[in-house]
Amino acid sequence: MNAVLPNHADVVVIGGGIIGCSTAYHLARDHNLNVVLLEQNRLTSGSTWHAAGLVGQLRSSASITQVLKYSVDLYKKLEAETGLQTGWKMTGCLRLATNQDRWIEFRRLATTAQSFGMDMHLLSPAEVKKMWPLLDVSDLIGASFLPTDGQASPSDITQALAKGARMHGAKLIEGVRVSGFNMSANRISAVHTNLGMITCGKVVNCAGMWARQIGAMAGVVVPLQPVKHQYVITEKLKGLSADAATIRDPDLRTYFKEEVGGLVFGGYEPDPIPWTEGDVPATFEFQLFEDDFDHFEQHMSAALQRIPALADCGVKKMINGPESFTPDGNFILGKSPECANMFVGAGFNAFGIASGGGAGWVLADWVAKEEAPMDLWPVDIRRFSAVHAKRKFVTARTLEAYGKHYTIGYPHEEYESGRPQLASPLYDRLKAKGACFGSKLGWERPNWFAPADTKPHDIYSMGRQNWFEHAGREHAAVREKAGLFDQSSFAKFDIKGKQATAALESICANRIDRPVGAVVYTQMLNSRGGIECDLTVTRLADNHYYVVTGTGFRNHDFNWILDHAPRGAEFQMRDVTEEWGTLVLMGPKARAILEAATGQDLPSQGFPFGQCRELKVAGKKVRALRVTYVGELGWELHVPVRGICAVYDSLMAAGQPLGLALTGYRALESLRLEKGYRAWSSDITPNDTPFEAGLGWAVKMKSDTGFIGREALAQQTLQPLKKMLTGFTTVRDDIVLVGRETILRDGKFAGYLTSGGYGYTVGKPIGYGYVRNAAGVSVEHVMSGSYELVVATEKVKAIPHMGALVDPGNLRVKA
Ligand SMILES: Cc1cc2nc3c(=O)[nH]c(=O)nc-3n(C[C@H](O)[C@H](O)[C@H](O)COP(=O)(O)OP(=O)(O)OC[C@H]3O[C@@H](n4cnc5c(N)ncnc54)[C@H](O)[C@@H]3O)c2cc1C
Repeated sequence: MNAVLPNHADVVVIGGGIIGCSTAYHLARDHNLNVVLLEQNRLTSGSTWHAAGLVGQLRSSASITQVLKYSVDLYKKLEAETGLQTGWKMTGCLRLATNQDRWIEFRRLATTAQSFGMDMHLLSPAEVKKMWPLLDVSDLIGASFLPTDGQASPSDITQALAKGARMHGAKLIEGVRVSGFNMSANRISAVHTNLGMITCGKVVNCAGMWARQIGAMAGVVVPLQPVKHQYVITEKLKGLSADAATIRDPDLRTYFKEEVGGLVFGGYEPDPIPWTEGDVPATFEFQLFEDDFDHFEQHMSAALQRIPALADCGVKKMINGPESFTPDGNFILGKSPECANMFVGAGFNAFGIASGGGAGWVLADWVAKEEAPMDLWPVDIRRFSAVHAKRKFVTARTLEAYGKHYTIGYPHEEYESGRPQLASPLYDRLKAKGACFGSKLGWERPNWFAPADTKPHDIYSMGRQNWFEHAGREHAAVREKAGLFDQSSFAKFDIKGKQATAALESICANRIDRPVGAVVYTQMLNSRGGIECDLTVTRLADNHYYVVTGTGFRNHDFNWILDHAPRGAEFQMRDVTEEWGTLVLMGPKARAILEAATGQDLPSQGFPFGQCRELKVAGKKVRALRVTYVGELGWELHVPVRGICAVYDSLMAAGQPLGLALTGYRALESLRLEKGYRAWSSDITPNDTPFEAGLGWAVKMKSDTGFIGREALAQQTLQPLKKMLTGFTTVRDDIVLVGRETILRDGKFAGYLTSGGYGYTVGKPIGYGYVRNAAGVSVEHVMSGSYELVVATEKVKAIPHMGALVDPGNLRVKA
């Protein structure tokens, strides 16, 4: 191969699979950067060459669906640009349903597709039979059909991307193995290889199942696990059309694709076989594992059941290859939290071919501009945390996620493996009180409390689930008396230093420089004005702040602050999550309970909303923040963790005569929906500005302080808004809203729900979503429309709401 390594590159891409080649292509084509791609063996020789090549597009996130749609658009036109075929065939994809829950899932999926601008059809068994005569449809309820899905040749696409990358000036070098980095502080300055060293500005780790060990060379955690994935290729199958739709048969855990007159089929078994938990060997090039017919038997018999003609058709080849899977089934993209100039694109969970084109596009943009071009939170590497550095946990959770690939996606489903990882000191007390726990970023959190005669155990269904009444009781307690939530998993940061105020002012949209004791609700924005963080900042002293944010956003928000605070600003930030427990006391009786527990009067004038005071409960120091996420009087009580049990006991004792109830996250969600508080990652995301989200009141546009996103917001004020977050209740109260339902205004598409649930006080399903209109949206526009929501393909009349459905203090029910 006699490769010559250049001395320097703006960007070194590691890995010549589909992801590395797509990233190099986009970096060179769109950003005109000096790009060098290093591949230890030959292009495609990792997981890419043996992929089955099914290309689906629909995901539960609008942005990720957009990424996958981009792949298809690119694969269609790549041949014209490079002269190399990609094998792209738009066959459409059939998904088969054999039971009612699956059918509801598909109806919801069809509605999601409509919300995201795709046309998914629902077909009867007879229509399926007509389309695919070889299928046994006797057990089908129906099928969904997405005509724009298809299939492609993984190696051909990758070679076309590689050629395109070279045409735009990138250098792709085979036979160069990366073996380490020169680091200066937390930056890579040079990449070591078997051919010497190359200095660089940035590194993109697209090393597939090797990405974990490449990451580790720079201290970066890339939580993935290689798993053995098998499919077979059959001889020619009589009667199979060359343009037969690809098939996903999730109830039988199998997929099918036509290939040169035969079938490719494989599946996702409940008992997957992991490959190594150690390092993946560098010499693993164009290799497969031994055929494992015993393990494949489950897919074989499923395939025979669905396509009986296969009984007379020989198997030409079995492919048993490794692919990297992740603990939540989503891929891993973005700037690593641990190393300032390593970006990652890995862990593609057997949809790397479908995602490759789009993932390379957005990753290249992220690398070049240091900012994700859209909301990529579902795949963002910062969604992980320290628990994901634990190999055993990652393996167990990943195998569970793999096993669930084709199971019905019930709302509110929790993972079971690797629990508990992190728990508040109150765990045993809450368990004894009937807590049914869920897990978030490793933390055990009470979702709801079962009464003495009920098992604290979720029973999943597509309708109202077994906890519905119990969460309703907790909800009522908060509205009528008081509820106590253990929210110790809240992420908490301590920020201190001479320039802490100035640094926070420059990244927060709200005014932070307020008197000591102020609790400020604020967003942090990207340069487009999109919302990156949504949190509270409490001023403890002149240059000392306490930041509280959601459990899942711990790594994301911490790193956003570090990355975006002015360079060299003098302040230190510490993650103190585990040092502070948090009890949240909410409800009309909250004051009386807190007064009893502290032995101190706490009149509103002395302790107004938006203030922090230090109190003592059971002799323990308590940092009390008067805020609310439920629309009731209440406090977040932050307690040095050693004291939290004593504080809990004291509050429970003081609250008992006043009707204090233990309350969980399912009730919390219902309460916040009624109050209209926005949730980051669903209602508010990097795609949405505070003005669009109705949070303009929390933006310091009147002050002359500069902050990230200000210019974009100023531009936005010059034109009418194009979308506006709106609340909806349905007229029927038996509807289950889960998010992504289509909003119809005067019968026409106007957006989709970003979150949905049930409000027990209003007795109605509640949803939030952006009402969109290219010509402009105003409150008048929103409120003057006549609305329906499309819920699992069924139109349901809905009422729009601006502002809270239930007002704090004065329980004014508007629905
Ligand atoms: C059996 C099977 C069926 C599949 N079917 C489908 C399908 O139907 N549809 C679909 O979308 N996806 C499918 N996939 C998944 C798809 O193959 C992967 O998601 C995709 O190929 C991942 O591409 P990648 O670029 O991330 O990884 P890879 O293709 O593995 O590329 C990573 C590259 O990095 C190189 N590298 C590693 N370490 C170093 C180093 N130190 N120095 C230099 N280079 C290094 C490797 O040699 C390798 O070439 C399937 C996977 C399997 C196993």
